[in-house]
Amino acid sequence: MDLTGARSIIVAGAGQAAAQAVQSLRQGGYDGDLTLMGDEPALPYQRPPLSKAYMKGELEAERLYFRGADWYREQNIDVRLGARVMRIDRSMQAVDAEGELLFYDALILATGSRPRALPVEGADLKNVFDLRTLADVDAMRPLMQAGKRMVIIGAGYIGLEAAAVARQLGLEVTVLEMAPRVLARVAGPELSAFYEREHRAQGVDLRTGAQLKKLEGKKGAVSAAVLGDGKKIACDLVLAGIGILPNEDLAKEARISCSNGILTDRDARTSDPRVFAIGDCASRPLVHYGRQGRLESVHNAIEQGKLASAAILGQPRPVEDTPWFWSDQYDLKLQIAGVSTGYDHAVTRGDPATRKFAIFYLRNGAVIAADCVNSGPEFLTAKKLISAAAKLAPERLADTSTSMKDIAATAA
Ligand code: FAD
Repeated sequence: MDLTGARSIIVAGAGQAAAQAVQSLRQGGYDGDLTLMGDEPALPYQRPPLSKAYMKGELEAERLYFRGADWYREQNIDVRLGARVMRIDRSMQAVDAEGELLFYDALILATGSRPRALPVEGADLKNVFDLRTLADVDAMRPLMQAGKRMVIIGAGYIGLEAAAVARQLGLEVTVLEMAPRVLARVAGPELSAFYEREHRAQGVDLRTGAQLKKLEGKKGAVSAAVLGDGKKIACDLVLAGIGILPNEDLAKEARISCSNGILTDRDARTSDPRVFAIGDCASRPLVHYGRQGRLESVHNAIEQGKLASAAILGQPRPVEDTPWFWSDQYDLKLQIAGVSTGYDHAVTRGDPATRKFAIFYLRNGAVIAADCVNSGPEFLTAKKLISAAAKLAPERLADTSTSMKDIAATAA
């Protein structure tokens, strides 16, 4: 569908993806009505520092915002904060914005995701937190003091980053992970083993294969985590980091196709050609992997914001880059290129004991992903190798006497 004559665009959700979409639309020459609706009270802000520098108290809240209120005014963007899109009426091309009907020629859903709720008794006690919003961290921070006892449920990236910050602030930290290893959903066993060693060396009481049975409280506030085997861990606060779910209900209720995310094509267009979905809420074609999937990353949110804008404005589709992600824990900078799901061979370059190494994941001889710890050149080259679906002998990747540049030059 040609939307180049669109005069009214509504963006539902005001996070990373939405901020990019409105910027790209204006930069791309769109001068019609543009409305940005977000249910949080804040202007669009970056989430990654919430479990890193901001949680640690090293970054002012002001530094989290992509743009100040002036920019949105100058760009003539109607920003509505604390305002929820309640419903989409596709036949009327309108959204119900808390009672007011707003009409669109194109609608962009950028509703993100929400933390999975802890499915145990006591999850509603005081001082049990999620980590998704600025408000979550602001509520948690007064308790993030030396000597306090923190239990973190879930050893994914967010749980482990929070554990690192909490240790650096002097808290006693216990991490409970149900799976037999940390980062089980997103990384291979060698990377898991490396991070387990690091966290334990930093004093984290890390327990894998641990089943949380319930949380107990005193005077309404959490006081202990009780495990399946009856063991009790006394605590002052609990952080739940057990994964996220896409905010796809608006789309589902409007009968837009969804399957673990709002399904889109390469242009971020949903099953309704006037409706786009971008960021964490969307399931998109992963062109480097020949399948559909949902990504939870800054890179994905930015890229899809650009794709939706280009499609609406009838401009050429931007190049889809290799997906990437990062995680900072202690002095370890992990950069992840690609998606390792489905790999059949893993090869390590460098020695994990030096805290500078990379693990390459291959399928049918081609590099599909790499986890790079304090290894910038490996990360940059891996992105290119994945884009090119390059085939490489594992011994060559493992050979640290050959530079990544030379390795890339010989890739088939
Ligand atoms: P969001 O940024 O979540 O924005 C969606 C917004 O829409 C939210 O404000 C939501 O409340 C709002 N909304 C939902 N429904 C409605 C509605 N009906 N009406 C109005 N508004 C609505 N990624 C990385 O690549 N590297 C990292 O190191 C990293 N660290 C992270 C650390 C933390 C603590 C978190 C939470 C995330 C991190 N991420 C990281 C992931 C990254 O921040 C997300 O992938 C990114 O924010 C997704 O952008 P989005 O716009 O899709 O969603």
